[in-house]
Amino acid sequence: MSFNSQYITLNDGNKIPQVGLGTWQNKNSEATIDCVYQAIKIGYRHIDTAAIYGNEEEVGAGIKKAIDEGIVKREDLFVTTKLWGTQQRLSQQAIKQSLERLQLDYVDLYLIHWPVALKTRSIDPSDPKNYLCIPMNPENKSVRDIDVNWTFVDTYLAMQHLKKEGLAKSIGVSNFSINNLKELFKHPLFKIKPACNQVEIHPLLPQDELIAFCKEEGIVCEAYSPLGSTSSPILTNETLVSIAERLNIDVAQVCISWAVQRGYVVLPKSSQVARIEKNYKNLVKLSDEDFATVNGLKEKYGEKRFVSPDFSPFKTFE
Ligand code: NDP
Repeated sequence: MSFNSQYITLNDGNKIPQVGLGTWQNKNSEATIDCVYQAIKIGYRHIDTAAIYGNEEEVGAGIKKAIDEGIVKREDLFVTTKLWGTQQRLSQQAIKQSLERLQLDYVDLYLIHWPVALKTRSIDPSDPKNYLCIPMNPENKSVRDIDVNWTFVDTYLAMQHLKKEGLAKSIGVSNFSINNLKELFKHPLFKIKPACNQVEIHPLLPQDELIAFCKEEGIVCEAYSPLGSTSSPILTNETLVSIAERLNIDVAQVCISWAVQRGYVVLPKSSQVARIEKNYKNLVKLSDEDFATVNGLKEKYGEKRFVSPDFSPFKTFE
């Protein structure tokens, strides 16, 4: 695998731009279309969305606008979307629906969003937006309705066909632990290594062990919530603020630069065009001393995970 500051080569030969635009929680239609369009104008070539974000139409419209205006060619963009739990038994139908919403013939990367399937018994099958549901268990409405008779291995085996059919150039996983990956690799019908594992990574959750395991297996990690997600305490962390002030950049760009320097894909999200631009253009090579300081933040402030939905009885991250 060859790493450089722009693209990382995946285990199937496809190339992924190292910095991509996150789009979670971008709901307002016009603003989301504009964010994606402006990001492409700024230079982003990698956009990350998911069926459950409910914004594939807007992401697709922003991409289409940029392509129609001749700013970029489809083949120069890298678009990722994700299979939601309610559709894990129906991955082919799900990807086709995503492609329709995105107005694309293929996605560059299709990920299993979480290693947990959700039951659809409480969902109205005629509802065209049922891919957006987080179904609760009718017998205990305080917990999600987990489909314990369908595993992420079943889902992944079916997804291998999506790559063969050309609906996804690469396939991968998200929120998979080392144990989840090992379980997947064991299956006799497992043939195509996941190209990526998209997981939470930032200075308070550096995920050294998972990144090392994935690298060993030829799987590229993608850092989600690289700034610590919404209302992040990372962005006001005193140590990071002092580095950012000295370098005359935002803390966000310290975190993104640190991720680029560590050699994986990083997916910062912003709904503000000025920040989208700075998060792409104001990246720097951190000095050895600053790099070491950011590496040491977890020890100083403690490990912190910001995205941890309850999928019990399935134990995520174990
Ligand atoms: P991020 O860590 O990217 O942080 C986003 C937050 O940081 C927003 O509140 C944003 O505010 C703010 N922000 C962005 N840039 C700056 C800046 N320069 N200065 C100050 N604040 C800034 O969070 P996400 O959780 O959104 O993660 C990024 C992406 O990763 C997602 O959008 C999604 O694509 C993916 N993801 C995937 C998951 C998975 O399960 N696979 C789970 C979570 C995320 P504002 O928008 O107002 O600028």
